[in-house]
Amino acid sequence: MTHNPDPARQRGFRTRAVHAGHGLDPATGAHATPIYATSTFGYGSAERGARLFAGEEQGYFYSRLTNPTVRAFEEKVASLEGLPDAVAFASGMGAVSAVCLTLLKPGDELIFIAPLYGGTTGFLTEVAAKFGVTVHEAADETAAEALCGPRTRLIWVETPTNPALNIVDLARVSRMARACGALSVADNTFSSPYLTRPAEHGVDVVMHSATKYLGGHGDAIGGVLAGPADLLAELRGVGL
Ligand SMILES: *Cc1c(COP(=O)(O)O)cnc(C)c1O
Repeated sequence: MTHNPDPARQRGFRTRAVHAGHGLDPATGAHATPIYATSTFGYGSAERGARLFAGEEQGYFYSRLTNPTVRAFEEKVASLEGLPDAVAFASGMGAVSAVCLTLLKPGDELIFIAPLYGGTTGFLTEVAAKFGVTVHEAADETAAEALCGPRTRLIWVETPTNPALNIVDLARVSRMARACGALSVADNTFSSPYLTRPAEHGVDVVMHSATKYLGGHGDAIGGVLAGPADLLAELRGVGL
């Protein structure tokens, strides 16, 4: 359950791609990760159930929050991205909406460098804007820098962009976010952590539509956010 970043990080990327988040199933010894097709888990006792719900004890109790199969995926993505933790979602758009609805409040400003995936642009300009968030579209890094201010909460980029394949300077984006006290989010779907690890350029939160290259076979829909543990704990508590 607890992700231990350090030993995994010291391994090479290909080793982490195989082994991170992966171990023998403690219940059965199965060496392939079982698909836990269950919504809930037994608590053992009412007291333990109360501790699990209060967050005083770590464990599985409701699969919308996580379950052993999902957790293996989350740990693998966190390790591949070189970030402390990850939270999985039913889709990439689930991840986009959760991070926005958890972190943004009325009066906040968000800057995105266009173009983005159409669903993300639609969510930001039509949904986030409805909740009193000012959404700025910037044509490039220079335009984004000019828009940064004390109310900027998130700077959202995608690189390479889907489908135009524009490349964004992640180091410059993370510097501008830090300078105005905002968080940077990079949609890394099209690059995958094999080619780009945005956290190595100072980006705070990395998002994927796992439906694309992470899934790789066109047979599953999913999304994931990797980032700092405190931020993801807030997300798990509020946005899921
Ligand atoms: C597909 C995609 C999304 C949305 O993900 P879904 O899994 O379809 O919800 C977000 N960003 C990018 C770059 C995508 O390609």
